[in-house]
Amino acid sequence: GYPAGYKHEPTTEFHHQHEMRLQQEAIENVATTLNTSNKIRLSIGRPLAESGVWSTSLNPANPTQILAQIEEANEEQVEAAVSAALAAQPEWSSASLPERATILRKAAAYLRSHRSEINAIEIMEAGKPWLEADNDIGEAIDFLEYYAIWAERLDTERLDSPAGETNQLRYRSRGVTLVIPPWNFPLAIPMGMTAAALVMGNSVILKPAEQTPITASYIVRAFEHAGLPAGALCLVPGRGETVGAKLVRHPQISTIAFTGSRAVGLDIIEAASHVAPGQTSLKRVVAEMGGKNAIVVDMDADLDQAVPGVIYSAFGFAGQKCSACSRVIVHRQIFDAFVDRLALATSTLIVGDPRDPAIQVGPVVDDAAFAKITRMIEEGKKGSELLEQGTLPDSDGYYIPPTVFVNPDRQSPLYREEIFGPVLTVERADDLDDAIWRANDTIYALTQGVFSRSAQAIARVANAARAGNFYVNRGITGAVPGRHPFGGFGNSGVGFKAGGPSYLIQFADQQVISENL
Ligand code: NAP
Repeated sequence: GYPAGYKHEPTTEFHHQHEMRLQQEAIENVATTLNTSNKIRLSIGRPLAESGVWSTSLNPANPTQILAQIEEANEEQVEAAVSAALAAQPEWSSASLPERATILRKAAAYLRSHRSEINAIEIMEAGKPWLEADNDIGEAIDFLEYYAIWAERLDTERLDSPAGETNQLRYRSRGVTLVIPPWNFPLAIPMGMTAAALVMGNSVILKPAEQTPITASYIVRAFEHAGLPAGALCLVPGRGETVGAKLVRHPQISTIAFTGSRAVGLDIIEAASHVAPGQTSLKRVVAEMGGKNAIVVDMDADLDQAVPGVIYSAFGFAGQKCSACSRVIVHRQIFDAFVDRLALATSTLIVGDPRDPAIQVGPVVDDAAFAKITRMIEEGKKGSELLEQGTLPDSDGYYIPPTVFVNPDRQSPLYREEIFGPVLTVERADDLDDAIWRANDTIYALTQGVFSRSAQAIARVANAARAGNFYVNRGITGAVPGRHPFGGFGNSGVGFKAGGPSYLIQFADQQVISENL
């Protein structure tokens, strides 16, 4: 699973004054370019008439600030994009795996040399605190480097070949891949899906998330700079329910790589099962979906580890991570001590505009998220006990205070549904068996964790965990490609883990050639 030559891209060291100043300057420079005259167009590798319909990208910390206008694809443009991607596919797939891997490495180099600029865009477009933005760019670079190495290893494999016969296994590209990402890792997630599809010789249509199209446009820039043939990567912005749904149903899409909510994922899986007359390939769907992730705090847990681990997992990027901790289950013997410290830690979190590097919790992404999370908190107050809420800045930004409930109503949406905001519930467990049962009391199976000093207890929780990624004595977010291949099962997704050794083969068809000598 560990390919030689792969190295995780280091995080920018903002505690060094020089790096801090560079980032501050990038924020100031980028801010001057983000306004209504900044236009992001659909791109398919050749000129195309404008659709005439534009949406906007806003700053969630200051929603009256328009950062860009984004062209929304119309039906004709969708067809033109599919044709361009189909036309580019034969040439692109005829390049060798090492040649395609080189393009990925060049795209990684582009991201490295534009890191502070892209960080600045994410800080303003997604509301990411500095380190969260920087980690997203780092992860995008990791995906490119990691998949480049794996692609080279996937070149022809020799199979058992008796005397008089040679047998070989090859990976063939599948055609056009549709990539539909969420907004919460606006560079890394679309880049990971796009890079995997491209390196296996497919052309890609990327429909970016509506909230973060400026960040997504850097994916196209990186591959253009890297020398990817025109049309092999098309950017087709537009609304999910219209442009996304249309592309999903297009008979000439072979593979769909989706990351987002369970509801949309299920709709895509269902739609992809329909086969149009004459459709030559059956659609394959890779779908990474939501979570409702728990951390168990055992009676002998080190609270100096557990409290910050839970706080960062629950409130990092305002809880807007599929891996975020939304339920903590605490052994009754340390319940009171843990809850006191958790409440105090929550109350000290600094919420505000993430352009300020001191900010720990930024805004949530848009008005719809703000309204949904606010409603869930208000509903939650009816059946569950509110323990603590952080303080808010005086601003029109989409800020939600970090919020902790204890003894949640187990039938409530607060307890059952993915909230995707800075909201945490705390439960008291009678013993470890009770904690294990509670941790798995969800349809999702994405991340889970335990804080304990007992190897036996850790093994019991880990063995019982319904979770694709399980973490011991650390937070449950921040998976690094190659180190923590990421993805869930249950209702959290179908497909192999992103940033893991099997991910690429989903974007290829296997073919065996047997030759009689
Ligand atoms: P979302 O609402 O499901 O949207 C994801 C993408 O699907 C967006 O590009 C969206 O376009 C598009 N879309 C919406 N409706 C569609 C339709 N009917 N047909 C085709 N495409 C459609 O999710 P989100 O709010 O962006 O992201 C948050 C969710 O992602 C959470 O559930 C989180 O757990 C999950 N997530 C999972 C992982 C993982 O690895 N498992 C990682 C990150 C996030 P628009 O933007 O235009 O609506």
